[in-house]
Amino acid sequence: MTAADAAAPADPFRFFGPAVLRTRRLGPSMLRITFGGPGLDGFAAGGRDQSLPLFLPHPGQPEPVVPVDNEGNWFAAWRALPADVRAVMRSYTVRAQRRTGDAPGATEIDIDFALHEDGGPACRWAASAVPGDRLKALGPAVEDNTGVRFRPPGDTDWVLIWADETALPAAAAALEWLPAGMNARVWLEIPHAEDRQALTTAASARITWLVREDGAPAAVDAVRAAELPAGTPYVWIAGEASQVRAVRRHLVRERGFDRRRVTFVGYWRRGLSEEQLREEAARPSPDTSGPRDTSDPSPATSSPSGD
Ligand SMILES: Cc1cc2nc3c(=O)[nH]c(=O)nc-3n(C[C@H](O)[C@H](O)[C@H](O)COP(=O)(O)OP(=O)(O)OC[C@H]3O[C@@H](n4cnc5c(N)ncnc54)[C@H](O)[C@@H]3O)c2cc1C
Repeated sequence: MTAADAAAPADPFRFFGPAVLRTRRLGPSMLRITFGGPGLDGFAAGGRDQSLPLFLPHPGQPEPVVPVDNEGNWFAAWRALPADVRAVMRSYTVRAQRRTGDAPGATEIDIDFALHEDGGPACRWAASAVPGDRLKALGPAVEDNTGVRFRPPGDTDWVLIWADETALPAAAAALEWLPAGMNARVWLEIPHAEDRQALTTAASARITWLVREDGAPAAVDAVRAAELPAGTPYVWIAGEASQVRAVRRHLVRERGFDRRRVTFVGYWRRGLSEEQLREEAARPSPDTSGPRDTSDPSPATSSPSGD
């Protein structure tokens, strides 16, 4: 190893090969899958909304196919394969990480899968997962990594969170992370009343569950109707893209929130699969200078500027 190698920062992401240990229904719409095994050694989630791409096998494949070229790059080699051969890539959140001992193979993570009616390949894979099933994950090897977006600035007086069921794992982990006494106004949208979860937080959080089957108002209407705390906010909103956009516009345009204090992430968009979203994001758009960096596999839209 040269001095330069020694000084180089560790690569924050690398491939892991976790195996399903167990599954548990959290409610009608949510399935928790706990992964572990030696393929998770060295995994280092940063908590909060730590996200990562999962690579899933197609039905009938024993393992997900993710080739890596001679330079150690995977994206171009993966893209070059036929769509029905290359692994299905989908973004998910590390709901929790723990160690069950000191021996290798003792790392476990939970990933909560929202089971949606319009079920795509990830939803179907999760619904039929059994212990021993394997996938690949391009996961964090260091806790401070760019897959953690929930980052309230130091001068934050209070936090506003809106999440639908796909972002509930991230919101729940963010609430666990918030410091004692931090004021938080939280809206969590779920399909059914039984999808409510017991959440743990030391923050002074006022949590409203928006249950769709009970005719809950749309996200933007719920937030618009609320009296919000005084002081400097930090906002984190994630879930279906059109709802995220509407809430952000309301906060920035109607309430005059500083857009730099709003983290917003479209986790999915009605009618589009994740690869369709990724293709759309990679196309040059009139208001950008060119295609976005396709080495970042996340379809998420999150930026402090622009509406
Ligand atoms: C950073 C990030 C973190 C995420 N974390 C999580 C997580 O922890 N848990 C989680 O469940 N999801 C999470 N998601 C969302 C998840 O990646 C998408 O829901 C994904 O589209 C599911 O893949 P699929 O193969 O099931 O469906 P796709 O093949 O992508 O889509 C098939 C169809 O289903 C629709 N669809 C997708 N999701 C839903 C939904 N929830 N409800 C209704 N229709 C839907 C699509 O619009 C499309 O019409 C995250 C997304 C991002 C970007």
